[in-house]
This record gives sequence, structure tokens and C-alpha cells, in this order.
Amino acid sequence: MLNIDLHCHSTISDGLLTPTRLVDRAAKRGVKTLALTDHDDVAGLDEARLAADAQNITFINGVEISVSWRGRVLHIIGLDIDPEYTPLKEGLAAIRTGRSQRAENIASELEKIGIMGSLEGAYTYVGERRLIGRTHFARFLVEQGHAKDLKTVFKKYLVKGKPGYAPHEWAALSDAVSWICGSGGRAVIAHPARYKLGKNVLDDLLHEFRTLGGTGIEVITGSHTADQVQDFAQHARDMNFLVSCGSDFHGPGESFYDLGQLPDLPAGCIPVWHDWKIVA
Ligand code: AMP
Ligand code: MN
Ligand code: MN
Ligand code: MN
Repeated sequence: MLNIDLHCHSTISDGLLTPTRLVDRAAKRGVKTLALTDHDDVAGLDEARLAADAQNITFINGVEISVSWRGRVLHIIGLDIDPEYTPLKEGLAAIRTGRSQRAENIASELEKIGIMGSLEGAYTYVGERRLIGRTHFARFLVEQGHAKDLKTVFKKYLVKGKPGYAPHEWAALSDAVSWICGSGGRAVIAHPARYKLGKNVLDDLLHEFRTLGGTGIEVITGSHTADQVQDFAQHARDMNFLVSCGSDFHGPGESFYDLGQLPDLPAGCIPVWHDWKIVA
């Protein structure tokens, strides 16, 4: 079976390893084809590609774009993108500028409940200041003893309805898909079960996504239970979506799947890489 991982993060966004160390870890763990998909940024791709070449790994340019859709946040993965495509570059830059203001808003929300210094604290966990995000706050809050791990900290503080949440308007779905597809890439809905959409809303999303040019669904991901894997594999087969798989690895000890540890795709699904020239 092909060892392929099409979703992971480096220090360019909220991962713990530099692009080079991430690729080296993937190589040690037997990954043969890897996409780096940092949040809203493509700045790690050149370094990762160099490291991948040295390790004989087929490297795929990727990105994970934050999208606001009907009052929810969705993540759309772009695979095999051209990072130099101007609308993509400019679109990602525009999303990133909102992150520092949002970080200040998160910090003031946390101050209201007596947690001081979280902005500076979160920034100590950031590789690139422009990509400050909730994971960096989460690491600070765990360090300060407000929760035992990242999962708990998100439940208690950083999600809608909790005291450390600040709303933010990300890219439009239509823009994210058009930047990805316009650059020659494939657009894939990341970890779809995470959005907890009811049947009708999910149906709307899948149809709208396809009409916009989206072609893939991430079926294998650390965010999905075995049942959710089967469920989304069925959606993919029913609607002729390609399927993708990725660990969503952020760092040792932080993610459900490590690099190169993924189960096989469910039967009857067409992989998003079916027509790529990749190392088996
Ligand atoms: P942001 O883009 O700043 O809103 O941060 C989103 C990131 O937070 C995701 O990519 C995950 O890395 C992390 N995250 C979100 N929810 C959780 C959770 N329940 N447990 C652990 N990490 C999470
Ligand atoms: Mn993340
Ligand atoms: Mn995501
Ligand atoms: Mn991710």
C-alpha cells in the first residue's frame, strides 16, 4: 500500500517542526508522498521540497485555507497548487492580516476571565508571527495549567460560546476554491465530520463545493472516527468526489495520527492522487 500523507503542518503555521524536520520525520516513518498544508500560508513549501528531494519523497505543494461559510469555519485543502499564482498569494496574504487583530481579541476575552498575558504567551509559541492562531494560545494555556492538554483547552476556552473565543471572517468558500483551482490545484474539504453539519446543510455544502469546482473530500484524517470514515467514503462514492487522506500532524504527542501512520482508504473510492505521477 502506498504510504501517502496529504495534510500536515510546520512551524510556518501551527506545527511544532520546521518544514525540514517535518519531512525528515515523514521519511523516517516511511512516507513516500507528502503534502505540506500549512494554514493560510505557502511559505514552507520551498524548504520542504528541498528536504523531500533529499529523502526521495514525492512532494506535493499544499495549503489549508480557512473559510467562513454560513457562520461556520471550514478548512479547504489545496493540493498540487502553484504557490506563485497571484490570486492565491494575495488571497492568503489578505486572510493572514486578520490574524493579529483576532489574536488581540482572543487575549482581551481571556483577560475578562482573569487570564493575563496570553497574547505575549501565545507569541512565544509562534514560528511566523503572521500566522498566530488558536493553537498557539492553546499551548500557552496548557503551559499555564488551565487545562491538561490541547483538546481540553479547546473545549473549555477557544471555541464558540466559550470565554476565549473571538469571531473572525475568513475567506469566502468561492474564493478559496477559485484560488486553488485557478492555480492548477485540487480543492478538498478537510476533516468534514468536524463541522457537525446536519444532513441538509451537508448536502448544500457538498453541492455548492462541487459547483464551485471542488473535487475532493478528506476521508481519512485524525479527526474522524471509523464510522465517520465510512460515512464520508459513502458521500464521496455517491457524489463522485475524489478522496484524500492526511494525518493533520502538528507535532510529536499532539496529534491523533503521526506521519505515515494512516489506515487504507475505504474500498471503491477514487484517490485524489489517482492521476499523479508519484512514487509508490
Ligand atoms: P485557527 O486557524 O487559529 O482558528 O486555529 C485552528 C487550529 O486549532 C486547527 O488547525 C487545529 O490545529 C487547532 N484545533 C482546533 N480545534 C481543536 C481541538 N478540538 N483540539 C486540538 N486542536 C484543535
Ligand atoms: Mn492547525
Ligand atoms: Mn483543519
Ligand atoms: Mn490541518
